[in-house]
Amino acid sequence: MAGPKSTAAFERAKRVLPGGVNSPVRAFKSVHGTPYFADHGEGAYIYDIDGNRYVDYLMSWGPLIWGHAHPKIVKAVQDAASRGTSFGVPTELETVIAEKIISLMQSLEVVRMVNSGTEATMSAVRVARAATNRSLIVKFIGCYHGHADYFLVKAGSEVASLGLPDSPGVPREVAERTLAVPYNDIDVLRDLFLERGEEIAAVIIEPVAGNMGCVLPKPGYLQAVRELTRSFGSLLIFDEVITGFRVGLGGAQRRFDIDPDLTTFGKVIGAGLPVGAYGGRRDLMEMVAPSGPVYQGGTLSGNPLAMSAGLVSLQMLEEAAKDGLYERMQSYGEQVVSSFLALGKERGIPVYGHAIGGMFGLFFHDGPVYDFDSVSKSDASKYEQFFHAMLGEGVTFAPSQMETAFVSAVHTDRELDLTRSAMEKAFNTIR
Ligand code: PMP
Repeated sequence: MAGPKSTAAFERAKRVLPGGVNSPVRAFKSVHGTPYFADHGEGAYIYDIDGNRYVDYLMSWGPLIWGHAHPKIVKAVQDAASRGTSFGVPTELETVIAEKIISLMQSLEVVRMVNSGTEATMSAVRVARAATNRSLIVKFIGCYHGHADYFLVKAGSEVASLGLPDSPGVPREVAERTLAVPYNDIDVLRDLFLERGEEIAAVIIEPVAGNMGCVLPKPGYLQAVRELTRSFGSLLIFDEVITGFRVGLGGAQRRFDIDPDLTTFGKVIGAGLPVGAYGGRRDLMEMVAPSGPVYQGGTLSGNPLAMSAGLVSLQMLEEAAKDGLYERMQSYGEQVVSSFLALGKERGIPVYGHAIGGMFGLFFHDGPVYDFDSVSKSDASKYEQFFHAMLGEGVTFAPSQMETAFVSAVHTDRELDLTRSAMEKAFNTIR
């Protein structure tokens, strides 16, 4: 239950913002709730305006791998702001962060900074279409790649839970250029390629899906997608907006050792400031203006505040990775999952879950989830009860089972203990 101040704030917001929010999922519709309004955050905790404190597994939907208000990131932003918030001419900082991203991501030779994940995926598709002179794109049911017209086709995330596979306002002719197939099913993809392979510009995939809960690729699946796209002259775009620098320092491409042609980023690279990026092979990225004819620009792209925060965050990740940061985050996620599974078993409630790097998924589902269909069979009502009970106990997850959970570098055993005891109480309330 949201407190009185959050409830009043939401009523006020609804008069001037569509649904009271600036991004749909924040309205807590999937869990039939009223959102708590953030006051501030500190480390692994978020505080609302009613004075409640929550152990945070939402982490601003992924960017906050260093938790809230990390002193080094705050300082980087303050220092940058004191020198000017935007210049409209190049800064050396943009080159430095590009060099850092390229050094850590195995398939990248050239990168372009943008302001959001949506911009990154839109732009990568434009490059792919230009490079192949084809127009069809293939996406996977339940994967979300931002809100460009041609991605609002069987997208996951809030789009799925709101039941808006095709948003009004998206022309049919545009939606028809996107073909959606089930995740983790190579046979369906192969059949599609056999039928229309010569028309397919690119396949875009979340290498670990984070917008239908956290769903792992089956062993060998991503490799098979890589081989199929290559053999038909289509490009493979890894959407690493969530997985980049999160499932491992080198993202999913390092973790599964696959070189996509293009990759998109967001979230972690901005450490909580508005950032996205897309990059890949030099011959493809040199097609982007002003090197080449594919137009894409941005007044605030490469913004010094965002670049400074992102660079410090990546430098800290590189250091911490040497000390096992990603293994630690995964182990933390695995421990939350195993407590969840044990409680489910004990109380006779069907549950499932898994963790990878700094992501994990909890499902009220009997047995493995591997695509949108299987995730959709999870019990939404039980998740709703769990979500609200956990909030009541001071722990916050995403307000939908269709979203991955995030662990940060600053979650410790203390937060793990709080989470476990909150879960025990929460399971008492689930019917
Ligand atoms: N791709 C993926 C995989 C995402 O999860 C998201 C956002 N959740 C996006 C793209 C779009 O990013 P943004 O919201 O920054 O536009």
